[in-house]
Amino acid sequence: MSALMARLVMKFGGTSVATVDRIRNVARHVKREVDAGHQVAVVVSAMAGKTNELVGWCKDAASLYDQCEYDTVVASGEQVTAGLLAIALQETGVPARSWLGWQIPILTNDAHGAARIASIDGARIVEGFDRRGEVAVIAGFQGLHEASGRVTTLGRGGSDTSAVALAAAILANRCDIYTDVDGVYTTDPRVVPRARRMERIAFEEMLEMASLGAKVLQVRSVEVAMVHKVPTYVRSSFDDPENPKSGTLICNEEDIVEAQVVTGIAFSKDEAQISLRRVADQPGVAAAVFLPLAEAGVNVDMIVQVASEDAMTDMTFTVPSAEFERACAILEKAKDSIGYASLAGASDVAKVSAIGIGMRSHAGVAARGFKALADKGINIRAITTSEIKFSVLIDAAYTELAVRTLHNLYGLDAA
Ligand code: ADP
Ligand code: ASP
Ligand code: MG
Repeated sequence: MSALMARLVMKFGGTSVATVDRIRNVARHVKREVDAGHQVAVVVSAMAGKTNELVGWCKDAASLYDQCEYDTVVASGEQVTAGLLAIALQETGVPARSWLGWQIPILTNDAHGAARIASIDGARIVEGFDRRGEVAVIAGFQGLHEASGRVTTLGRGGSDTSAVALAAAILANRCDIYTDVDGVYTTDPRVVPRARRMERIAFEEMLEMASLGAKVLQVRSVEVAMVHKVPTYVRSSFDDPENPKSGTLICNEEDIVEAQVVTGIAFSKDEAQISLRRVADQPGVAAAVFLPLAEAGVNVDMIVQVASEDAMTDMTFTVPSAEFERACAILEKAKDSIGYASLAGASDVAKVSAIGIGMRSHAGVAARGFKALADKGINIRAITTSEIKFSVLIDAAYTELAVRTLHNLYGLDAA
């Protein structure tokens, strides 16, 4: 490679490859970088809506389907777009070859439906760059479990992780995530039109934003970017390919000049609340509640226990809404060993969070947020805090109002 030549990974999400016409547009973005002399590996998602359709077919075929065959079905969406983009690139005179997960290979563990990447052998892709001047088009979201020889997928939104992990494996200079927004915003721009695009955001903050519901990047992709120090750039695929605009760079904290106390607001409606009424306030009760859930792989998030006066207390916590019914069934079964009077559940709740590295050094940030929510008549059901974020659990109906209130309070609204 010459000094000016860079090695890039370019990832295009579902909306960006939703039609053959859009795939042609993607090919123009790729051609721009190839013409500038760069070595390019492209990672593609399935066409928008395709993965949902494939998941629906699995559910239609059987209510309890084999996860291994689920992966075989849902991995097919990315095979189509990888092949189509390679054809579109060849059509514009750019040598290109498609690669499925197993052909590279991208090796994963055997957690079908939510597999983790174990290793990626970048040799064949780099050989394509060096020997044939070829663009590699990689099907995102999929991998191979070597021992069983089965195809795996990385969980919803997993193409982001394919891209960042590939960038780490081939020592790319940058990973560009092209999507349907032109960067990471202070909150979801579809909910708050006054949200602002950030020039930069620190890995830690992006990790919290993604974990707390900002679906712009899969959580795991941010972890991989952080660990392997992959400069990751979120940008729009709808820009003019000949004249692309700026996006958002995810980078080290030290590289951010103007730090805000709160940098972003995230929200998630994928939570459900469970309250156990009148459990004994004594050692061992929390373990009796949470061990059976942990053993069944149910993730518990916010936990609140009220101080008691008569040795009995209430315990409230949240689980992912997809796990709500399973969690209730487990707790009903363990009712005698836990010893509670009744179980109350609510799935119409939402978690709204404020994130910012500046919270480490500023006191009272959360308290101001609680006050602002109270002024709007929004009741807080549970709270959690950590060094760089706080989250509140509220009625789902107030999600947008709460997000807008906090966004405005912390000075994030665009002028
Ligand atoms: P892709 O198909 O390209 O992977 P996604 O739908 O997964 O795209 O992610 C992009 C979407 O993430 C945007 O359309 C936007 O509505 C949503 N989003 C949520 N929070 C944010 C945020 N803070 N900044 C930007 N986009 C966000
Ligand atoms: N197509 C997969 C999904 O919809 C992976 C991705 O788009 O990142 O979840
Ligand atoms: Mg996505």
